[in-house]
Amino acid sequence: MHISVVPGRPTVAEIDLRALAFNYRQIRRRVPKGTGILAVVKADAYGHGALPVSLKLEEMGVDYLGVAIPEEGVALRKGGVKTPILIFGGIFQDDADEVIRYGLTPVVFDIESLKHLSKAARKRRKKATAHIKVDTGMGRLGVPFELFPAFLKDLKKYPDVEIEGLLSHFSMTDGEEDYTASQWRRYQEALDQAGAMGISGRYLHMASSATLTAFPSYSGNLVRPGIMLYGAYPSAAFQRMISLKPVLTLKTRIHFLKRVPEGERIGYGGTFMTRRESLIATLPIGYADGYNTRLSNRGEVLIGGRRAPVTGKVCMDLIMVDVTEIPGVSNGDEVILIGRQGKERITAEEVAAKIGSIPYEVLCLIGRRVPRIYRR
Ligand SMILES: *Cc1c(COP(=O)(O)O)cnc(C)c1O
Repeated sequence: MHISVVPGRPTVAEIDLRALAFNYRQIRRRVPKGTGILAVVKADAYGHGALPVSLKLEEMGVDYLGVAIPEEGVALRKGGVKTPILIFGGIFQDDADEVIRYGLTPVVFDIESLKHLSKAARKRRKKATAHIKVDTGMGRLGVPFELFPAFLKDLKKYPDVEIEGLLSHFSMTDGEEDYTASQWRRYQEALDQAGAMGISGRYLHMASSATLTAFPSYSGNLVRPGIMLYGAYPSAAFQRMISLKPVLTLKTRIHFLKRVPEGERIGYGGTFMTRRESLIATLPIGYADGYNTRLSNRGEVLIGGRRAPVTGKVCMDLIMVDVTEIPGVSNGDEVILIGRQGKERITAEEVAAKIGSIPYEVLCLIGRRVPRIYRR
C-alpha cells in the first residue's frame, strides 16, 4: 500500500477505501436477497470525498448513489460516474435542464417540479425519470400522506416523466420500533394507493442505516445506507448489531514544542493555566479545519499511543496540547485527532459526544483545506 506524500502542512484526512469496501460488504450481507443498495454520498460523501468514494462503490457493483442537491450529481457525472444517481432534495428553480442533461433522477414531491421536468425532457427529447416521495411521519420533504391520492391523480398528467421509484423516510435512528412500524404501514398504504391507480415503481425504498440494521424487513427492494458505509453508527445501540471499520483518520504532526513554567496561561482568554512545569505541543489544525471550538479544554488527541488533552481554546488554525506525561515526544511526531494509534482509538462518536453533536456532523465539517488522501 502506498500513500503519496503531500508537501506542506501535515494535517490530512486519510480515507481507507478498503474499510469502505468492508463496510459495504457488511451491509450487503444484512440486506435481504434481491434488495439493492443505494449508497448515500451527499455532502461530499460525509466529508470523505464523493468522487473517489463513488467510483470505489461503483467498482463494487452498487446499484444506485444518492446525493442531496443537483450540483453534487453533476460533479459525479463529470468525474465519470455511470451509476444511477438519485437527488434526495428534489430540483430547485432552474435545475430541471441540468438534471435531464446529466441523466440524474430527482425525488419529486410537488407538481411544480413535475412540470419543469416534463418541459425540460421534451426540450431535450429525452425521458425524465423521478422517484416520488410520500411523507409518512418524518415531517420533512414528501407529499403529505393525506394528500397522496390527489397527487397521484395529478401525476398521470405528466406521461413524459417516468416514475422509477416510490420512497419515504424513517425518522427514528435509535431503533425505536412503534413509530417506525407505523411509518412502514403508511408507506405500504401509499404503495397500495399508487398500485390501484396503475402507478408502480421499480424501486421501493425507505430505510437508511438505522432501519436497515434494526428492522431489515422494512427494506422494500432498495436500502439507503450513508453513515454506516463510513464506519460510524447512527446511534450507540447499533454498535452491538453490526461491526464496521472507520474509514477516516484525521491526523497531523507536532509543529512546535516548548517547555513552560508552572502558572503560565495558554491560548486566547487564558482559559488554561499550567499547574506544573509543562511540555506544550502546538498542532497545525484548528476550527477552520473542522476541529470544533467546543473541544477547547476538553478534546484529546493521540501522540505516541497515549492521550494528550487539549489545553486552552481551539484557535482557527492551531490547537495546543499538554504532552508532559508522554515520554520521548519530539517535533514532527504523528498526532491522531480521529482514528487509531497503537492501542488507543478516538472515534467520530467520541468527539461528537464531547461537543453535544452526532458523528455525521463531525465528519461532514472536516474542512475543505484538509487534503483527503486515499488508501486503496
Ligand atoms: C442522508 C439520508 C440517508 C442516509 O442516512 P444515514 O443515517 O446516513 O444512513 C438516507 N436517505 C435520505 C433521504 C437521506 O437524506
